[in-house]
Amino acid sequence: MECFDTHIHSEGKGIHELRAMVKRGVKRAVSCAFYPLAPSAPETVIDMFRKLMSFEVKRANKAGMKLYPAIGVHPRCIPPEYRKVLSFMERCSPTAFGEIGLESAGSLEIEVLTAQLELAKKMDVPCIIHTPRKNKEEITIKILEILEKVGFPEELAVVDHANGRVVSDITDAGYWAGLTVQPGKLSKNEVKEIVETYGFERFLLNSDTGFSDEELFAVSDTVDYLSSHFGKEVEKLAYRNAEKFLRV
Ligand SMILES: [Zn+2]
Repeated sequence: MECFDTHIHSEGKGIHELRAMVKRGVKRAVSCAFYPLAPSAPETVIDMFRKLMSFEVKRANKAGMKLYPAIGVHPRCIPPEYRKVLSFMERCSPTAFGEIGLESAGSLEIEVLTAQLELAKKMDVPCIIHTPRKNKEEITIKILEILEKVGFPEELAVVDHANGRVVSDITDAGYWAGLTVQPGKLSKNEVKEIVETYGFERFLLNSDTGFSDEELFAVSDTVDYLSSHFGKEVEKLAYRNAEKFLRV
């Protein structure tokens, strides 16, 4: 089945790897912004966005993949003078902002997330929101509180890397929940249990494959696995929900 991987970091992947993903059905993907070091200047992040929006799109295209770049300040790489980055974002018309979110939920992280959500609301841009491995429940609730405070449109936010303990908090609040299939995040079977309990309507699937050893085929493997149990309804998780969320 054709798949849409809603969260990768294409910069970490070679063209042969992107090609292999396409061969396994991943014809479309969102490539999220992330810089693996603490940026020494806002321009570092701005140039990374420029690379994502031009070079990475072309490189994926060569591999047969339609790539949608998402730009945003990740909580683990907030540059000094981050407002300059936000002004740049305001001049772009990206498919989505991402990944933004919270890692340890310190006051600067909260300030940067809130400012990006306010901008996204004003620009009508969907947001891919990271939740951390550590203190996931507590920080997910914090993110939901911030979304509420900003009055952020429900259909424009995916709270990503959700697990079985937080999905109902996210979907009850009306947002999309992102399911990341990777060792240390969710297994195919955990995704199966989640959709068995909550249905297919409010979930987006992704691999978060990027700079490390993550499994390239996490999305296609999960879709194959779910198809053998649920049939055609899996299309929602495979690509239809992604199309709806991203409006592509
Ligand atoms: Zn990521």
